[in-house]
Amino acid sequence: MVSAARVRAAVAGVPDPEIRVVTIEDLGILREVTVDTEGRAVVTITPTYVGCPAMDAIRTGIRSAARDAGAVDVRVDTVWAPAWTTAWISEDARAKLYAAGIAPPGAGAAPPGAAPAGARLLPLAAAPSPAPHCPRCGSAETARLARFGSTACKALWRCEGCGEPFDHFKEH
Ligand SMILES: [Zn+2]
Repeated sequence: MVSAARVRAAVAGVPDPEIRVVTIEDLGILREVTVDTEGRAVVTITPTYVGCPAMDAIRTGIRSAARDAGAVDVRVDTVWAPAWTTAWISEDARAKLYAAGIAPPGAGAAPPGAAPAGARLLPLAAAPSPAPHCPRCGSAETARLARFGSTACKALWRCEGCGEPFDHFKEH
């Protein structure tokens, strides 16, 4: 008999298809996993936004992970309330995003210690604007180039410090 905890552990490891360094649990998309006495799983998710193209791949990943864990049947339910917010992204996931060169949501988004030595990194509280820090050099002097980056979830920014463009996971 497969337990809900086992199915949840398997499903929690499903990566975000657009940002593979983080999982659906890291991003707060995975809400609940239940398994009935027959071994049928119901996985509840809250998509990041309406029409996110990654959701089909996420549902497919959930079904296959839950079956691999022993669920005899898998239903993926979507709940929209409360609406997903970038506040659900775990601290651990923010550090993973930053390490992958994606500025996580939030002002002065660099996690402590993540910037290279010598980088001008403002303390969170002192950040004067919601501009993200450069995930490459840690500079706070960054400018938005475009509302959309490599995916609709991200905006394209450029660092004035090192001159490199980077993706910023948009707040919402
Ligand atoms: Zn930079």
